Amino acid sequence: MPNRKWPAWRRALAVAMAASLLFEGGAAGSNKVKLHGYITGRVDDKVILILDDRIETTPASHVSGQDSSGEHPMKAEELAVGMLVDAEGVWVDRHKFFAEKITADLRESDKKIHGTAYLQEEPEDSSKIGTGQAGQLKVDGYLMEVSGSTKREWNVTKATATASTGTPASSQAQLAACHVKYSATRRKDGKVDAEQIDLGPPASADAYKMPHDMEIVPTKDPQTGINILEFRQGKKVQGRLKLLAEKSVQEYVSHLGDSLLPAGAEGTSRPIEFRFFVVEDPEINAASLPDGTMLINTGLLGTIQNESQLAFVMSHEIAHVLQAHYKREVDETRGQRVGLIIAGIAAGAFIGDLGLFMASMGIASVVNGHQRELENQADRLGLQNVIEHGYDPREAPNFSRLIINRYGDRTTSKLWSNHDSSLIRGSFLTIQLQRTYPDNTWEGTKKNTKAFEQMKEDLGPVKIM
Ligand SMILES: [Zn+2]
Repeated sequence: MPNRKWPAWRRALAVAMAASLLFEGGAAGSNKVKLHGYITGRVDDKVILILDDRIETTPASHVSGQDSSGEHPMKAEELAVGMLVDAEGVWVDRHKFFAEKITADLRESDKKIHGTAYLQEEPEDSSKIGTGQAGQLKVDGYLMEVSGSTKREWNVTKATATASTGTPASSQAQLAACHVKYSATRRKDGKVDAEQIDLGPPASADAYKMPHDMEIVPTKDPQTGINILEFRQGKKVQGRLKLLAEKSVQEYVSHLGDSLLPAGAEGTSRPIEFRFFVVEDPEINAASLPDGTMLINTGLLGTIQNESQLAFVMSHEIAHVLQAHYKREVDETRGQRVGLIIAGIAAGAFIGDLGLFMASMGIASVVNGHQRELENQADRLGLQNVIEHGYDPREAPNFSRLIINRYGDRTTSKLWSNHDSSLIRGSFLTIQLQRTYPDNTWEGTKKNTKAFEQMKEDLGPVKIM
């Protein structure tokens, strides 16, 4: 039993010191861990919250902030809700963490936002915006108020004329899929005030293609007759995935996916065909490929608790596709697509490790996650999408909590990395909901459906990893 006369921070410190002595130089390594996430709440001057985890500090904790000019000392009480922090320290109890060091990322401002996104649907106020008037614009998961004083470059003819598909701009110009660059400030009511908006052309058709002319074809295995998905290059089969046999589950997921596509997703020149497949894979994951093919793992369906959670995961994946994140990532981070070297997979064999398979095509992020800015964008748009479809958006961070609790064992690096990214995702979603919809109680929103429960029953018990 801990000495009850000690204040919590002294007990924490004692445990931390004992722990560090215990593990010093040992082969097992130190049990110091890093937590990475957005501050979702404050308990008092010394304690912050990241979802359900209490992060405690003492006067000896080293707290600093990092901005574009470098690292600066900060006080623990200056750590504010919404900041992205890195906390180094030790677990002293379940959901209780003692931080020796906290670094806050101050490059993301609480008030000013800026970014780029492709419009996911037709903007209603386009003509008003084009003629210098006030109007509303849904962009990048925000509801943006454009005023008379917003600086703008909004030439519809110019933006649509350069569409890469070569189709001439019609008189009924379609702006869904066009690019918008913006800077704005957050308002108290969750909307944002546009300072500047610039309309640009859609992404090139190439952005929505599988690399290396890979084709994804649902078919049957000639020997066993089971349903599979083939990755084909010309006549050559580079890999196969086993599809779940239960037709009713496939149909449910496919129907849900179609219902979640933003209005206008199909009505543009984007060469995307959304297709939804349930693959037999125990990992709790979903992946969307550049061409709109979405893979939902049985492990995910087995874990997920309600339709609202599944709708969010699928809306997040739809956003990755509509925002051409594969292309953006390739352009911004790697410069070029890697050559196709599918290692360790005999022609026509079943794919053992989907992440490795995608990595060989240069799109590992499809399975392993994109860079944080792009994941945040997919989360913002995913939240907006489920809200518009009448779902309870609080189920999105709840799903992250579920994963964190499931992988609460923080002893192995694989589980740890899962926990870490779930913590970032869950805390980001919580913050985004608080900031963007501050007054909404989500009363009357739907969490679950009979169709979802029926799907779970049809799915039966599945292996989850
Ligand atoms: Zn993602």
